[in-house]
Amino acid sequence: MAKSKQYKTWEEVFQNPHNIRVESLNTGYISGTEKGMFNVYSEEYQNQHTFKSAKLPVLSHLISYKNKYYLVDTGFDSSFSQRWGGSFKGLLRSFLLRNHYLQEDISLGVEKQLEARGITPDTIFLTHAHEHCAGLCVFDNRIPLVLGKYERDICFFPFIYSTNIKSRKNIRYFDFSADGIEMPLLGYCIDVFQDGSFWVIDTHGHTKGHVSYLINGIDRTVLITGDISNNSLGFAIGVETGSYNENMVESKYSFDKLRKFAQSYPQVKLIFGHEVPGLFQIEYLD
Ligand SMILES: [Zn+2]
Ligand SMILES: [Zn+2]
Repeated sequence: MAKSKQYKTWEEVFQNPHNIRVESLNTGYISGTEKGMFNVYSEEYQNQHTFKSAKLPVLSHLISYKNKYYLVDTGFDSSFSQRWGGSFKGLLRSFLLRNHYLQEDISLGVEKQLEARGITPDTIFLTHAHEHCAGLCVFDNRIPLVLGKYERDICFFPFIYSTNIKSRKNIRYFDFSADGIEMPLLGYCIDVFQDGSFWVIDTHGHTKGHVSYLINGIDRTVLITGDISNNSLGFAIGVETGSYNENMVESKYSFDKLRKFAQSYPQVKLIFGHEVPGLFQIEYLD
């Protein structure tokens, strides 16, 4: 990937939007805990509502640009409606993932939703691994997978693990030091198509190779935060993801920079790791 030499400010980027669109697909649900979803120890979280568990949509995002389709995250494939834990492997798969990952109908599987519309993705991008790449196994191995450096499958072998990333034949990793350009507020970003339409942002912390994406569309500009902020409530009150983060300090740094960016550019629409406001909401259960 060559470096984009065109843009130095987000104002310049936003003045040159492209005919690129994003549509989110809901592929199932995951159950979440308060401590996992929110840093409950942060000052900002005090006096907020408490809940026992939450039902969070598991999302995939379909990007269309220049007659091609791209995916950001896969969500669940249809195996999740056939057996507990779907594409995950391991001795404790069905025991640990029973009622944790839910897919009520086979038609929610990411491949079923794309097949119904006759869409094959050109490239699959990931925000990170976790359950966000659980549907990778249904896509032809020739389709390139692009993700953050150091990002790995979940692996608690032999109890619970995934080989979704490891078994891909065509993998590329974002290299921010080689291909990134330093942009205001967000630090190192890569202008993926080199025309300012689609950006990847280094937001490691939730996982080692976590990234976020910015879609600079004519109809709307969209920031896909990934699990740096899994929900809209935390983003609004300034509370980052909790124990689901691998590194709280780095994750908070990434969270703060996305928040500062969103506050500076309020026209940017936000898609969170597990919530698309107004479309796919989180259900909080008492
Ligand atoms: Zn997640
Ligand atoms: Zn995650």
